[in-house]
Amino acid sequence: MADFSDLSSALSERKANHLYRQRRELATAQGATVVVEGKTYINFCSNDYLGLANHPDVLDAFQQAASEFGVGSGSSHLVCGHSSLHHQLEQRLAAFLGRDRALLFSTGYMANLGVINALLGKNDFIFQDKLNHASLLDAGLLSGARFQRFLHNDIASLETRLQKADAGRKLIAVDAVFSMDGDLAPLQALSQLAEQYDACLMADDAHGVGVLGQRGAGCAEFFNLDQQQLPIVMGTLGKSFGSFGAFVAGSEDLIETLIQFSRSYIYTTALPPAVAAASLASLKIIQSDAARRQHLQALIGLFKAQAQALGLPLMPSDTAIQPLLIGSSEQALVISDALAAKGFLISAIRPPTVPANSARLRITLTAAHTVQQLEELLSALAEVAW
Ligand SMILES: *Cc1c(COP(=O)(O)O)cnc(C)c1O
Repeated sequence: MADFSDLSSALSERKANHLYRQRRELATAQGATVVVEGKTYINFCSNDYLGLANHPDVLDAFQQAASEFGVGSGSSHLVCGHSSLHHQLEQRLAAFLGRDRALLFSTGYMANLGVINALLGKNDFIFQDKLNHASLLDAGLLSGARFQRFLHNDIASLETRLQKADAGRKLIAVDAVFSMDGDLAPLQALSQLAEQYDACLMADDAHGVGVLGQRGAGCAEFFNLDQQQLPIVMGTLGKSFGSFGAFVAGSEDLIETLIQFSRSYIYTTALPPAVAAASLASLKIIQSDAARRQHLQALIGLFKAQAQALGLPLMPSDTAIQPLLIGSSEQALVISDALAAKGFLISAIRPPTVPANSARLRITLTAAHTVQQLEELLSALAEVAW
């Protein structure tokens, strides 16, 4: 490209369409309340679903590991960056999910890129739900595999596409919990379809692990799918774990294949070991403190019932992601600003993150919220102009 003079016109256009993104500068740790530009807000847009990002045990583990292991991991996992803390976290995650093995990646985005590109090439097929996370979509494009997007949570739409796929590997990849909608993929039906058409099923459990299931082991536990029925689970550590990083869990052969062929695993620096230690501490809390999940569930039930009574535009979600559908990006921004003026942080999620004309307020509930904070939110929502 010889000419970048159109950058500013593209930026102006984005502004004119109410799609411009701006960052907020937080002066505090993640939590139910945060400070932005000197003002305290109740935070309803974080993915720190269990309130672990600033938990004292997680902080302690992080600090102690930093004293012992330093900050940087020094290199990629395959060179000399794979510490005993990384290894232990992989083993505990695999046991937690009931899988042979797990492999750490530096981010969920990279995990999705790494899995799909290690497994698929141009003679293969990738089937993805239309509402999948951008990292899955990007991974599919990069792989060069024949890309089939099916209608959201529509088994028949997927089956039509599977019937037409002739040779090559077939991978079905979905968000287990859709990140901007909060609804669940029908993983049991998808698993049966995968078996019927000799395809492999992959679930991106970024918003499920830690939260879904009695033990918090995520979508595999919630839908009771073993490794054969759900061979690839990707989970992130930056959301309910309150830490950073991601993992893929599955069979011995899957994990060895990723170690050998996954470029976003091989060609990047390993996570800081202290971050792995923090995730280990989070995992311990997830396994021992079911009360956090129970409190979160209670808040979700309360929010849904009261929002419904207020006539708010709820979406069909039973998870901690409770979006309110607005439609117009401009209106979503107006409402988000009005709520900010009342002391609530809630993001206006707009295209291209969501389909055209489906801008929404993405409210996320966490175990760190009190019932009173939730009630304050509901009062504020009742007062703003829809
Ligand atoms: C957040 C998210 C990712 C990316 O994970 P990071 O660790 O933040 O890179 C992938 N998939 C889904 C569904 C997500 O919500």
